[in-house]
Amino acid sequence: MSSAASRRRRRARLADPLPITAIDRRRLRMLLIEEHRRAAGRSPGVAGEIEEALERMLEGRYGWCESCGTPIGLWRLNVVPYARRCTTC
Ligand SMILES: [Zn+2]
Repeated sequence: MSSAASRRRRRARLADPLPITAIDRRRLRMLLIEEHRRAAGRSPGVAGEIEEALERMLEGRYGWCESCGTPIGLWRLNVVPYARRCTTC
């Protein structure tokens, strides 16, 4: 990761009023697994997105906007747990 990106992340973390806790992450993981079961066979696109989200979770990249590096936000993740970007992006 570049130092600019890590600076951006640090700033974003400080500005985030509602960081995702370990408990949120565990709950969102269950939600992802549940949605994956529903999407499997019916919506391969969504199932693939969910698989990638679970991968991001394992790698510690989950919950961060892929475009601007700010937190995606818990309310958005509750609606779209496999979201890659924040509402602004
Ligand atoms: Zn963004």
